[in-house]
Amino acid sequence: MAKQPMLKFVQIERDMPSKRDATDRKEDFDEIYAEYAAAKAEEQASRCSQCGVPYCQSHCPLHNNIPDWLRLTATGRLEEAYQISQATNTFPEICGRICPQDRLCEGNCVIEQSGHGTVTIGSVEKYITDTAWENGWVTPGMPQHERNASVGIIGAGPGGLAAADMLRRAGFGVTVYDRYDRAGGLLTYGIPGFKLEKDIVMRRVDQLEKAGVEFVLNCDVDADIFAAIHAEHDAVIIATGVYKSRDIQMPGSGLAGVEKAIDYLTASNRKSFGDAVEEFDSGRYDANGKRVVVIGGGDTAMDCVRTAVRQGATSVKCLYRRDRANMPGSQRETQNAEEEGVIFEWLSAPKGFTGDDHVEGVMVQKMRLGQPDASGRQAPEVIEGADYVEDAELVIKALGFEPEDLPKLFGQADLPVTRWGTVKAAFRTGATDMDGVYAIGDIVRGASLVVWAIRDGRDCAEAIIERFDGKTAIAAE
Ligand SMILES: Cc1cc2nc3c(=O)[nH]c(=O)nc-3n(C[C@H](O)[C@H](O)[C@H](O)COP(=O)(O)OP(=O)(O)OC[C@H]3O[C@@H](n4cnc5c(N)ncnc54)[C@H](O)[C@@H]3O)c2cc1C
Ligand code: SF4
Repeated sequence: MAKQPMLKFVQIERDMPSKRDATDRKEDFDEIYAEYAAAKAEEQASRCSQCGVPYCQSHCPLHNNIPDWLRLTATGRLEEAYQISQATNTFPEICGRICPQDRLCEGNCVIEQSGHGTVTIGSVEKYITDTAWENGWVTPGMPQHERNASVGIIGAGPGGLAAADMLRRAGFGVTVYDRYDRAGGLLTYGIPGFKLEKDIVMRRVDQLEKAGVEFVLNCDVDADIFAAIHAEHDAVIIATGVYKSRDIQMPGSGLAGVEKAIDYLTASNRKSFGDAVEEFDSGRYDANGKRVVVIGGGDTAMDCVRTAVRQGATSVKCLYRRDRANMPGSQRETQNAEEEGVIFEWLSAPKGFTGDDHVEGVMVQKMRLGQPDASGRQAPEVIEGADYVEDAELVIKALGFEPEDLPKLFGQADLPVTRWGTVKAAFRTGATDMDGVYAIGDIVRGASLVVWAIRDGRDCAEAIIERFDGKTAIAAE
């Protein structure tokens, strides 16, 4: 009888790829997790129970066929595993690295619920696709025939790139416009290298170029450029993400040294590319030798604290107004930050900033969690008389992002937006009320995840392909 390759979760313990020691990884911006060796990947994949109703798959926004690629990996059939994996995910090696798996696929793995650790789905997904790259299985998505139609995509983040890939494969002329000098959106200039090394993103951009996708970079789309793009292409996809930083107005918030997270992270990522960055070289966005306080408890805040550690800050503290259990950021990243020496001041909120011209400290008020509010979340309340000042030479505000005013920026009063300023677009297709104009990713969802932007990009591309194939009338979208 053939040996059963799967269901090994009782005999084999969950084992993540090894993580570099904190003292070592603090010295650079390289990724912190190693790659599985082949035998380890097979072993870990073999822990999957191949359950009849795979909750991992239904909780993956891309509905990746996880049980199948785990089984193929466990039996050494990696090229087939890669083919199945890439059929539903445009960038599996990126998702394997940065999806919050604990909230998505792995968080719903049934063997976790039976007391065994989850299958390490993200790490196996990364392993499969990194191996595919090494073996030359990842090839440019060339179309089999060209169509006499083109799509203009505004925004080269994961949403725009995922749409570009599918549309190009289907034979459309695709031009991607972006205000930055490199494609990738937040994959390139937001997320630091220790989570996602930059060559992983750039090789994907190269592949798209090889497939014939055109990139028009350093192109900040305004009303005139939008009108030109709209006139030139048969369809337009808006994939501009959300970049307006939420702010706090309080005494001292205008002082030098109180900075926005996105500007700080962009400067650091540019340095990792070897660019000359005047505002970093002048010291403004360099944490070296400074006491740093980061305000916020989300993934952006985690990226800022860990960037400051690597830049050589003398101390890094993170202020968050709720407690650890109620923070929005990933627990895995918080633990990584703690290992690297970051101190978390839970239940602490800023009240103002001290200093004359340049910030010298943060006035902190201590909080407690009160009664749940209408949303069911416990509201933080101030503890009177417990204020103190936290010394700091660099304060980074990581309080979330909002959309820019796109109808105004693009001179399109008819572009429908919600009361939060996100673009109103149809579920699954991204179609807006403007003929031939679609919207996807964070500009529709608000600040979200890479995997959802990919999902939107793929769905929108499919809708456009169907429309051009005559399967869908515009009104039905
Ligand atoms: C610091 C940080 C860390 C994150 N970490 C994670 C993580 O670990 N895991 C995860 O899943 N998600 C993470 N996210 C969220 C994730 O990056 C986003 O949800 C995702 O990138 C959204 O993709 P998008 O394509 O919609 O937009 P973006 O990636 O934001 O790309 C939008 C692109 O549009 C361009 N653009 C905007 N306006 C214009 C204009 N007027 N003209 C021309 N171009 C324009 C921008 O330059 C940008 O390149 C993180 C976000 C941040 C800020
Ligand atoms: S794409 Fe993300 S959620 Fe889906 S299987 Fe991969 S890591 Fe899990």
